[in-house]
Amino acid sequence: MPSIDQLMLKALRLFRKLPINPLNIGNTSGRFLEYFKGFDKVEAVKGIFGEKTTEILSNLKVEFSNINGYMYVDGAEGCIVISKNYLQNGNKTDIYLDLIHELCHVKQFMEGKELFDPKYEYVDRPTEIEAYSYTVQEARRIGLTEERICQYLKTEWMSNSDFRRLAKSVKVNTQKPHLKLSGKNNTTNPNSTT
Ligand SMILES: [Zn+2]
Repeated sequence: MPSIDQLMLKALRLFRKLPINPLNIGNTSGRFLEYFKGFDKVEAVKGIFGEKTTEILSNLKVEFSNINGYMYVDGAEGCIVISKNYLQNGNKTDIYLDLIHELCHVKQFMEGKELFDPKYEYVDRPTEIEAYSYTVQEARRIGLTEERICQYLKTEWMSNSDFRRLAKSVKVNTQKPHLKLSGKNNTTNPNSTT
């Protein structure tokens, strides 16, 4: 069985191979697998789409945007929109986990689920809880501590009480005494994130 370090290295190696330089993206869209090569071989991704993983990721459209934020699934088209700034400057582990999270939303979109259901607050929305639960599972698999997972979950636009509600829903322990909730250190607004 590979060590946590090896698993982490494997996850991070994906990014070193990313043939992407956001500054060079003139035309700002393409297909997911053109930019995120090898993602169809990642177990966590195969766990979402099963046998159709390669086919779905080959067809999935991805757009690179000048929005200041992270990434989200477009509620009309079901494509993934990613902030160029985040892709260039964001923490690689956070980006990896966000991609897993958004791919969960792509699956939900394909199943006809409403991704921006206004009946719910962001942290209470069933589609978010499902996507975060799956992502937390992958975060633990690659060796992140509960404290680091909390940092990942806590975005700067999320109140402490919302964060604690979300953490409880996805069964993440927030009881560390010196928890520093700095978030992902980027600017965004909740409307541009699924
Ligand atoms: Zn989401």
